[in-house]
Amino acid sequence: MTLRLTAFGYDDFFASQMQSLAKDLIPARVVGQHRREWDIVTETEAMRAVLAGKRWSPGKHADVADTQPTVGDWVAVRPGEGGNPPVVEHILTRRTWLTRTSLAKRGARQTLVANIDMVAVVAAFAHPGSADAVKRSLQPRRIERYLTAIEKGGAKAAVLLNKSDLDPESEAVRVAMEDRLKTIPVRAVSSKAEDGLSPLLHLLKPGQTIGFVGLSGVGKSSIVNRLLGREAQKVGEERVSDARGRHTTTHRELFQTESGLILIDTPGMREFALVGGDEADLSAFADVTALAASCQFRDCGHRDEPGCAVRRAVRSKQLDPDRLDSFQSLSEELRAADTTQQQRRKSKGGPRRRTESQRREREDWDD
Ligand code: GDP
Ligand code: ZN
Repeated sequence: MTLRLTAFGYDDFFASQMQSLAKDLIPARVVGQHRREWDIVTETEAMRAVLAGKRWSPGKHADVADTQPTVGDWVAVRPGEGGNPPVVEHILTRRTWLTRTSLAKRGARQTLVANIDMVAVVAAFAHPGSADAVKRSLQPRRIERYLTAIEKGGAKAAVLLNKSDLDPESEAVRVAMEDRLKTIPVRAVSSKAEDGLSPLLHLLKPGQTIGFVGLSGVGKSSIVNRLLGREAQKVGEERVSDARGRHTTTHRELFQTESGLILIDTPGMREFALVGGDEADLSAFADVTALAASCQFRDCGHRDEPGCAVRRAVRSKQLDPDRLDSFQSLSEELRAADTTQQQRRKSKGGPRRRTESQRREREDWDD
């Protein structure tokens, strides 16, 4: 195994996948994304790669509409020869992912980032008494929505309450949040304070990849820049040759800190909706689903059904009614997203004519 790639998170899980592939392919990690080209790092260099056409093989977890590499992916690359760009031949099976439903493609899944060990949901305090929009980021229901999607993709989750320097009551808010979210670590941080991010750093190990989600204005970029000790996007630029052999700057969305953490800061992570599934996916609500197991009816909606154990828990103040409300609306959303996806799958096989852009997309990515 190789040193530079190890520092980028390469391990046996990916190395063993490489062994079953052609010997002339090399491993690389996707660090940036363009429309039809991907910035990658290999053991020896940073390059811009294109995607193989016919030889394309999606990983085990990939959806049909999700067969492009994304930031964080490990890929098997055929080095370019005779001035040709390197070619991505395979996406290695992802360990974790964060997906959202693409509105443009009517419920198509879109993987935003891959192989993240942890996703931090960032919310922020505001000056007490201010009507700052950022304050909405502290709504537990908004946070629970993010947590649901994160856990679905297999990454660990944490909640960062940033700008703790602004609110003297920050510790009380943090404790209440951690109480509600049960198993998720909640840390109050400040990207402005000296040593203000150490509560976050205690959650992470070198070689781990972390991404940040949350409303605009909560301080995600400030946190990333602070961890890197520099302005991420500027310093991330390096000169590489593009597909046509021209020199160009890369567009980095994956960075390494000096202490060896890997940060992903991509615009796509900033807002996303849930993808289809059912209540079994609502692992962020293990307390509610445990209660629901004792309901009289298996398909209890926990509204006015007789023998509802969940309602009983609300009446006895064992369960926060707002948390139940949040669980119910997320369940509905998941079911609705699932229906849309099933309809999509059905209509794909049907006689409906494809639009020009859908046709182009299929030509580009299908066998
Ligand atoms: P993003 O949209 O989530 O990336 O948020 P930014 O990083 O751009 O930050 C939004 C605003 O919040 C900027 O004016 C930052 O200076 C400010 N900010 C970020 N972190 C903190 C913090 O810990 N404390 C305070 N007081 N302000 C912060
Ligand atoms: Zn019930």
